[in-house]
Amino acid sequence: MTPLEAIIRRRIGEEGGITVAEYMELCLAHPEHGYYMHAQPFGREGDFITAPEASQMFGELLGVWAASGWRAMGAPAEFDLIELGPGRGALMRDMLRAGAVMPGFTEAARVRMVETSPSLREEQRRALAATGAEITWHDDFAAVGQGRPAIVIANEFFDALPVHHYQRTEEGWRRRMVVIGENDELAFAPGGPPADEAGIPQWAAELPPGSIIELSPRRAEYAAHVARRLSGDGGAFLFIDYGHAVPGPGETLQAVSRHRRVSPFHRPGETDITAHVDFHALAVAAERQGMTCWGPVEQGAFLNAMGLAARHEMLRRKATARQKIMLKRGMERIAAPDQMGRLFKVLAGVSPGLPAPAPFEEQG
Ligand code: SAH
Repeated sequence: MTPLEAIIRRRIGEEGGITVAEYMELCLAHPEHGYYMHAQPFGREGDFITAPEASQMFGELLGVWAASGWRAMGAPAEFDLIELGPGRGALMRDMLRAGAVMPGFTEAARVRMVETSPSLREEQRRALAATGAEITWHDDFAAVGQGRPAIVIANEFFDALPVHHYQRTEEGWRRRMVVIGENDELAFAPGGPPADEAGIPQWAAELPPGSIIELSPRRAEYAAHVARRLSGDGGAFLFIDYGHAVPGPGETLQAVSRHRRVSPFHRPGETDITAHVDFHALAVAAERQGMTCWGPVEQGAFLNAMGLAARHEMLRRKATARQKIMLKRGMERIAAPDQMGRLFKVLAGVSPGLPAPAPFEEQG
């Protein structure tokens, strides 16, 4: 049993059960034993590979996106370039390298890394040491402060924020809890009614008994918080994650260890545990704060529209035979429909008065 599982069992013993959201939060973010606090989750030896780890072109195209957003804002002399959950720092490193092509962009950028994990902060510091950018780290988006225009980027961040599960029974909606089951193993079981029945969305109203839905007030609040700041100070966001454009029934909690799917109860604290992002909910939360949203579009379509093929061609010209193979493999990984291209989606938002962001201009 992992140390975190012992803590979780004690908590369940005291309270009778914990919500799926509490379980997920403990697994990922427990200050001592949470997954992101100690593990080396990324890369080929780790548990999963994210897009910026798979190909430098991902971060480079996002750097082009950020630089063109900065110019659309009137190229302010100072702006916050904020990344939520920057992992090992590859995305910001590649963004800054590509953004440097736009004169003035690097000088204007105040890089703000929102990261809770001390060990990942250390990796980020190493990855960004050579960029020469002014960088600070913050525990939470709120700690970044405000008062400057900003560009906010988040890749595979929202999927790590906790979700609640609700189950419809003959008696109405019930919270889905994590309990200690009959064979003394962690298990799901229905609990009491949700704290706020009004929080059950319209699309779920007619679902039959037995249905499970997944909701994340935390994610919506986080998106609203980002949107509120951007609406006030001016700016844009780009949220990228795996998930769906249209909400519907079903749950998507998934645990991954060493590139394999495992039970969400497998070695708590040592296993990555995430759930699909409901992009509709994020867009609604952002638009309530005055942002205009674009997308979500599939990641493959987004990257292609941002010039993936041209970028690939340019890098190929200077590459060795082996590098050419890696470049092609990376490109397929991030954009092919059967890899990350279709499951992953991109949602962009801009503050009032700004034009449509790249690559949505033609539709604007
Ligand atoms: N964006 C990176 C890593 C994604 S993994 C990439 O694409 O490679 C999720 C990241 O979010 C990790 O860096 C993790 O430590 C961080 N994280 C998770 N929950 C967080 C929270 N509530 N606040 C800040 N960072 C968080």
